[in-house]
Amino acid sequence: MQDPEFERIGKRLIQEGLLSGNFGNMSVRSKDGFYITASGSFLDNPGELVYVSRTKGVGTGASSEYRVHQKIYEMTDGTAIVHAHPPFAVAASFGGDAIVPIDSEGKMFLPSIPIADGEPGTEALAESVGEKSGISPVVIARGHGTFACAQSLEKAYLLTAITEHAAKVLYYRRSF
Ligand SMILES: [Zn+2]
Repeated sequence: MQDPEFERIGKRLIQEGLLSGNFGNMSVRSKDGFYITASGSFLDNPGELVYVSRTKGVGTGASSEYRVHQKIYEMTDGTAIVHAHPPFAVAASFGGDAIVPIDSEGKMFLPSIPIADGEPGTEALAESVGEKSGISPVVIARGHGTFACAQSLEKAYLLTAITEHAAKVLYYRRSF
């Protein structure tokens, strides 16, 4: 399965510096599972998506972070997930258990962004992000990146951009 929306959103993520190289992944919910970008694929040219089924298992070549996506879909009614590596949000994640935005959009849409722990690709990370996705549409894996869940890839991308903007404002605020 291919979906041009993945490429459109992938291009935005890269153009806006929300991820670099071939990092990050995206998925959309479907029937008894979800379609996710392949491991190592570039999000501005994602190609063939891989299906992860709740009953029939994981398709060959699925992104190594499929466990986190699976857990978020179990814990929420969201239908799309964007995972990116926005540098300011990652830097801000080392501080505590949540980022509390001070800018107006951040305060409105994401008043407290929880931080999850666990090594990339592990069940521990999936558990930690999944648990916190019940209280916030964006969760940051400490030192790693954002997982944003919404009703479309575009909305999940917007939440990712709001998170990075909030982290940037917190950073720049310190210089005044
Ligand atoms: Zn990642």
